[in-house]
Amino acid sequence: MAKIVVSRPPEDGRIRRIARGILSLAKGMGVTMGYFLRPSRVVTEQYPENRKTLKMTERFRGNLEMVHDENGEHDCIACGMCERACPNASISVLPTKSLAGKKVLGQYLWRMDSCTLCGLCVEACPTNALRMGREFENATDDRKTLVRVLNRKEGRS
Ligand code: SF4
Ligand code: SF4
Repeated sequence: MAKIVVSRPPEDGRIRRIARGILSLAKGMGVTMGYFLRPSRVVTEQYPENRKTLKMTERFRGNLEMVHDENGEHDCIACGMCERACPNASISVLPTKSLAGKKVLGQYLWRMDSCTLCGLCVEACPTNALRMGREFENATDDRKTLVRVLNRKEGRS
């Protein structure tokens, strides 16, 4: 009958592996303790607890906005250049006439559901009436909310 021989690793190899494991654990615990003792260095965002104070980065694009001043006025002249610049027809500029018969903005519609946040409309605007916003909580179960009117007032100041 054949004899089965099970070879065991040498004793010093096993000790070395255990020592390496303990060292690696200590390193990890050291990093954790470092952040625990100096919380200002923590980069992880505690979302959604920090919802009110969370600031997105400078270059983040979450939505399209029409710039309004403190009186709720905007600089859109209803020229339609942003509409033409948009690669997927996410903008509809609906002009109307002022009392003086001048063409002014009636409604500015933006479709978030098709917008790719490319920013071409912002670049095309001759009056800097648009900018990319930093909204990031845009999930919804109602598609109607994805079509927004961006101007608060009709016309132009
Ligand atoms: S960001 Fe791009 S896709 Fe979105 S509305 Fe502007 S041009 Fe169109
Ligand atoms: S937002 Fe700018 S580009 Fe678009 S219609 Fe108004 S003025 Fe023209």
